[in-house]
Amino acid sequence: MSKESEKNAQNIIAIVYDFDGTLSPGNMQEETIFKAYGIDKKKFWAKSQSMVTRKGYEKTLAYLKLLIDDPVFKKRPLTKHKLRELAKQVPYYPGVNEGYFDQLNEFLRSLPEVHETGITLEHYIISSGLQEILDGVSIRKYFKKIYACEYDFQRGRPIFPKLVINDTNKTQFLFRINKGKLKLSESINEHMPERERRIPFRNMIYVGDGITDVPSMTVTQKAGGNAIAVYDPARRVPRAVKAMVAEHRAEHFAPADFRSQSLFVKILRQTLKKIIASIVYRSSAERSSDWVRRHM
Ligand SMILES: [Mg+2]
Repeated sequence: MSKESEKNAQNIIAIVYDFDGTLSPGNMQEETIFKAYGIDKKKFWAKSQSMVTRKGYEKTLAYLKLLIDDPVFKKRPLTKHKLRELAKQVPYYPGVNEGYFDQLNEFLRSLPEVHETGITLEHYIISSGLQEILDGVSIRKYFKKIYACEYDFQRGRPIFPKLVINDTNKTQFLFRINKGKLKLSESINEHMPERERRIPFRNMIYVGDGITDVPSMTVTQKAGGNAIAVYDPARRVPRAVKAMVAEHRAEHFAPADFRSQSLFVKILRQTLKKIIASIVYRSSAERSSDWVRRHM
């Protein structure tokens, strides 16, 4: 394979996960910060919501401000160190921290076409939660990149949000993954021909749980990618998930169970096989057209 075609092999597959409600039940702030500070979640979110309705704050910015300014945090400020420590309290859905990522890699390794075409798999998270918490989670090493809300820390304390991720701007990060421009300092606005994109949308699988994932699922699906909706295995299928499938935002839905025999993993393997078949098909079609070009 020449250097040029190697660069454009488009044989990387990406699984992009939402975090809260997708890999982890509940909400990361509630499981970590609120528990450690004894915060009443209803009161906190009501306060945050009132900043939205009364002062016109953007929803994510409102909670980020409260985590700095609320009297509780004025008294005992959050620190970078504390957030990393609290990350250990984050709970997971079954299987997530019990072999899911390794088993998926093993599954790929078992497919001969994966070797033949040099296919690799990458995992990403795009979350409106906190980067510092996600950087401290036990499954951090499995992710190529995690995008989440970030604070500017001075002397270890958060002083201002430097990156805010909400439902709608989540999609920007899908394009970063698509174009291979993962650093925020890299511009993603310039046009990049489909053929040069590092991970085409057809090689992407978006996994999310709720209404906040609809814009990301829509972008992924419209561009030829795949979306799977998940829900708490302890509950019945939520209305939001039914709507996502009925309105064609997601092709599949399953309980958020990441153990090897689960419906979710079965669907995921089918989707991976479909993507792999398409990569193999395209690469053989390309070899044919290359041969013809050389022999004209
Ligand atoms: Mg979620």
